[in-house]
Amino acid sequence: MNPIALYKISYGLYIISSKSGDKYNGQIANTVNQVTATPEQIAIALNKENLTHDYILESKVFSASILSQEAPMSLIGQFGFKTGREVNKFTNIEYKLGQTGAPIVLDHTVTFLEAELMNTMDVGTHTIMVGKVIDADVMSQAEPMTYAYYHWVKGGKSPKNAPTYQAGLEGETTQATGEKYKCQICGYIYDPVKGDPEHGVDPGTAFNDLHDSWVCPICSAAKDKFDLV
Ligand code: FE
Repeated sequence: MNPIALYKISYGLYIISSKSGDKYNGQIANTVNQVTATPEQIAIALNKENLTHDYILESKVFSASILSQEAPMSLIGQFGFKTGREVNKFTNIEYKLGQTGAPIVLDHTVTFLEAELMNTMDVGTHTIMVGKVIDADVMSQAEPMTYAYYHWVKGGKSPKNAPTYQAGLEGETTQATGEKYKCQICGYIYDPVKGDPEHGVDPGTAFNDLHDSWVCPICSAAKDKFDLV
């Protein structure tokens, strides 16, 4: 089997959010699919180790925020490479509570969907969850981010809990030029050809020329957490 073939499936980039009592949590996901039209139902697949997974099974409600191409890596890092068991991911995030009481992230959100859990399916490491859409709205006319755009243009990686994560393959999508450094925490690769637009670092800036206060644009790890690739 050639695992690269699986990379050709198209995905988007979403923040799935839910609640437990008055606590909120959310996570990045690349799998949100409309599965029926009457009624409108969507399916998501979440890793069993993720806190949002447990919150949805408990509260039976969740939201999906469809991110725009302009969504910064810091937002993706906040929801994708940190755990709600250690940090409140909704700190300094613009959100609202939906009709079900589920939190809905509004930062860099093109549209949102809010759903009630109708069914689940155990698929090993993940649970597929099907929800009936209770509310949905369009927040902006910006282009939604595709997973391909996230990988190619923004240099994003898959966290190990993503359904599409493939150990050993992450990083092969960056172009092989210049001395690249990889974040030990989240797998982000600093490519001097691209620089770090999030932090105003110009293309062509060598890793060693980055300021000591520079941090990983995804997970905020310090510069000494990077290894030469
Ligand atoms: Fe990182």
